[in-house]
Amino acid sequence: MRYQADQSLFDRVLRRDPSVIPAVDGVSLTIEQNESHAVIGESGCGKSTLIELISGLHEPTNGEIQYHGKSISELSHEEKKDYQLNVQMIFQDPYNSLNPKFSVRESLQEPLKIHGIDTSEKKIIDICEKVELTPPEEYLDKKPFQLSGGERQRVSIGRALVVEPEVILADEPVSMLDVSTQASVLNLLSNLLSQLDVSLLYISHDLSTVPYVSEKLNVMYLGRIVESGPTHEILNNSMHPYTQALVNAVPIPDPHHDRERILLEGTAEHSEELMSGCRFRNRCSEVMEVCEQTPEKTHLSQDHTTACHLHNDNNESRVGETTKQH
Ligand code: SF4
Ligand code: MG
Repeated sequence: MRYQADQSLFDRVLRRDPSVIPAVDGVSLTIEQNESHAVIGESGCGKSTLIELISGLHEPTNGEIQYHGKSISELSHEEKKDYQLNVQMIFQDPYNSLNPKFSVRESLQEPLKIHGIDTSEKKIIDICEKVELTPPEEYLDKKPFQLSGGERQRVSIGRALVVEPEVILADEPVSMLDVSTQASVLNLLSNLLSQLDVSLLYISHDLSTVPYVSEKLNVMYLGRIVESGPTHEILNNSMHPYTQALVNAVPIPDPHHDRERILLEGTAEHSEELMSGCRFRNRCSEVMEVCEQTPEKTHLSQDHTTACHLHNDNNESRVGETTKQH
């Protein structure tokens, strides 16, 4: 299966006011069967909008989302139902994403009922075991208020997986959990990905969580993907100054491992001035004159790309042009 978000995708805000900067701009992302992709970036970088566009909550003002080669805006009624079944979401907030009146059993039955799939007790017990709510009998009649945050998020994961979708969209699924629960939920997701025939699009602001769940990493900054490639390659050999700052900020457990800190000043804020040129240039320590122009995506290897003038082979004018701005 394949998704493609080509060219410029704009969020609802932009449709009302064309002078607003696109929340998601020029993003092209293809998720093949069984692949896991992460999109990482600061809040407001457009990653949640991206997931809302893919899940069909909003329509792009430009560009398209393709499912099995067909734009989702052109799907027939039946195909749309198939899409809704096969693309499931895990939400950020385990405290608000479950119906407080539903028992665990009812919560897990609901997506099956919506899609007209059999809701046998065996299926429900099976999914409880998959998401490690064990023994299931102890959980099935519990209401959300009787569950911990981690247990609720396991129910949410179960709700997403019970219909056997092709893709899971997970928007910051562990950011509201405490650190030890985060690790156990990420480990669960990672185990499920290796066992099941499912793809994942994982959205997070926390780079340290990505290696658990995702083989591929896309770094997003103010609506654009600035670096993309295999997760391990980017973590070990990041090329874009923004990615380098994010990688540098991930804590290293070894206290003897010394490294120079890259301080990222300011915040990622949309401004009209940043509409053209590199959107990171007001925070980049490597900024050059040429950065007033929008950097094109450059291939560093077959599947590692970045959009930065430092790595643009065609850019001869950059030599000796560095004008650090602070
Ligand atoms: Fe920095 Fe220029 Fe690269 Fe943007 S294009 S990240 S401003 S060096
Ligand atoms: Mg978000």
